[in-house]
Amino acid sequence: MFITDAHLDLAMNAMEWNRDLTRPVDEINAREKELTDKPDRGNATVSLHELRKGNVGLVVATQIARYVAPGNPLPGWHSPEQAWAQTQGQLAWYRAMEQAGEMMQVTDLATLNKHMALWGNEIKNEQKPIGYILSLEGADSLITVHYLEKAWGYGLRALGPAHYGPGRYSNGTDSTGLMGAEGLTLLKEMERLNIILDATHLCDDSFWQALDNFKGHVWASHNNARSLVQHNRQFSDEQIKVLIERGAVIGGVLDAWMMVPNWKMGISSPKEMNCNLETLIDHVDHICQLAGNALHVGMGSDLDGAYGKEQCPYDLETIADLQKFPSLFYKRGYSKEDVENIMHGNWLRFLRHAWS
Ligand SMILES: [Zn+2]
Repeated sequence: MFITDAHLDLAMNAMEWNRDLTRPVDEINAREKELTDKPDRGNATVSLHELRKGNVGLVVATQIARYVAPGNPLPGWHSPEQAWAQTQGQLAWYRAMEQAGEMMQVTDLATLNKHMALWGNEIKNEQKPIGYILSLEGADSLITVHYLEKAWGYGLRALGPAHYGPGRYSNGTDSTGLMGAEGLTLLKEMERLNIILDATHLCDDSFWQALDNFKGHVWASHNNARSLVQHNRQFSDEQIKVLIERGAVIGGVLDAWMMVPNWKMGISSPKEMNCNLETLIDHVDHICQLAGNALHVGMGSDLDGAYGKEQCPYDLETIADLQKFPSLFYKRGYSKEDVENIMHGNWLRFLRHAWS
C-alpha cells in the first residue's frame, strides 16, 4: 500500500548526524559503529532507500534549527541568523537530492498529481524519487517575519511555529505562555501565503491562541493522545476535538516515550515497556473514536527524529516496516477504505483541499 509519512527530519539526519540517506540503513548504521556523540548512533531506521522499499513515496520533510537565548539549556544556535543559515544548508541538501533524482519537491496541486501519477505506474520503486513537502519545525530561524515569503519562494508549505521550549514566535513543548506580537504577525503572513499551520509542539496556551487567530489550514504532523500518555507533548481530547472540527489530520508518532506511559529516556527499552506498532494504533484509534470516523488520522512517524531503534516499537527494524500497519489495522476491524485513508488518503485529501 502507498504510504505518506507527514514528519521526517531528513535533512537534519544528513547534515547533523552526517548520514548519507541514499544508502541502505544497515550501511549507515555500520558506519556509525564506533561513534558515541549521539545516543542513537548505529540505530538509524530511515533512508531514502528504505522509504522506497516500504512504498513510502510521499513525505513531509523538515528544516529545523532552534535559537537559544543565554540561559536556555536546550541545544541550539546563539543567533537567529545562524539558525537561518543552518536551515539553508538543509535546503541545499534537499536540492542536491533532487538533482540526483532521489527526491522531488511537491509544492502545489500540479506537482502533487504528477508525483502521484509517477508512483501509480509500473516503474520499479528504485527508479522513483521520494516526493517531499517542505516544512519548517520551529520558526526561530526566520530572522524576521519577512523571511517567510523567501521561504515560500523556495517551496516551504507548512510551518510549526514552535518546537521544544520557549521560541521566538511561539512557546513549545514543556513551555507555557501565549504567542507574542511577532507570533501573531507570523500567523497572518502564513494565512496570506497559504502556508499550513502545523499545530504540533505548540504549548497549550499558544495552541489555543493560534487556533483562535489563524484562519488557514491546520494539521498536526506528529502527535499522539494525552489521555493515553500524560504529557503536554501530546494533545488533550479537547485539543483533538477542535483539530477535527478544523478539518485537521493528525499524524501518529513512533517515538516510544510518546507512545507508552512512564518511559524513562535512556533507560527504558521498547521490549520491556511492551512498545510495539500496535501501541500506535491505540492512539490512532482513540482519535478515530473522538472523530467518529477514520478521516483525521495518518502517519507522522518522526522516525530518526533524534532517536532510533532504542526508542521506537520493537517490531520495527526500518521505516519500511510502516508497511506492517495495514494488516494490524485490519485486525482491529478497520475497513480497507479506512486503512487506505490512514496510510495516505487523509493527507492527500488535506493537501488537495489546501492547494485547490
Ligand atoms: Zn517534533
